[in-house]
Amino acid sequence: MMNKRTFKTFTCGECKNKFKPENEGIWYVETKDNLAVQSTIKEPIKWICPDCIKKWEESFKTKTMEYMGNGYVYVEFANGSTQTIKFETFTGRVTIDYMDVPQFFLQEIQVALDEYRKEKQSQEIVEFELVDEFDKQYIYLKAANDYENTLKFRYGRTGEFIFEKPPQDVFPLYILKQFNSKLREKLSRG
Ligand SMILES: [Zn+2]
Repeated sequence: MMNKRTFKTFTCGECKNKFKPENEGIWYVETKDNLAVQSTIKEPIKWICPDCIKKWEESFKTKTMEYMGNGYVYVEFANGSTQTIKFETFTGRVTIDYMDVPQFFLQEIQVALDEYRKEKQSQEIVEFELVDEFDKQYIYLKAANDYENTLKFRYGRTGEFIFEKPPQDVFPLYILKQFNSKLREKLSRG
């Protein structure tokens, strides 16, 4: 028996308008969870028209995006709304599995993440020197971004460190965070 030719029209599952496919392809959303209910009469697919896809993409246009650490970005969308979004990195690629987002949005997260890492790397202390001689006692440190500083100290009666100035008054926060652990590391090594 010959297969009969049939004409297929597309109705958008979102706006319910009839539309023509464009770009040699067609957008759709699988609706597998409805499969049992729809059974024989409907396709397990929701077609989406170009206008609705455009609207969907528009809703992901960002104004600003900032990586917050621990796999979170804070996004201010062009439409004025804001959202904190969790993502995963899988073999170096950004993915979000609980939310359907356009490819360009994932790329933007990737860029925010790369910038954060670069910034973080540049702030790392790369030199940490504890000079402890009878006439000079100081700590010298240098970060990858060329920040450098020196902090003098002397020993107290029980051998404790007495800094010339409180470290929190001397160093920017990103240095201070590393300073204490670097110092502890240095002292434990003797
Ligand atoms: Zn539509």
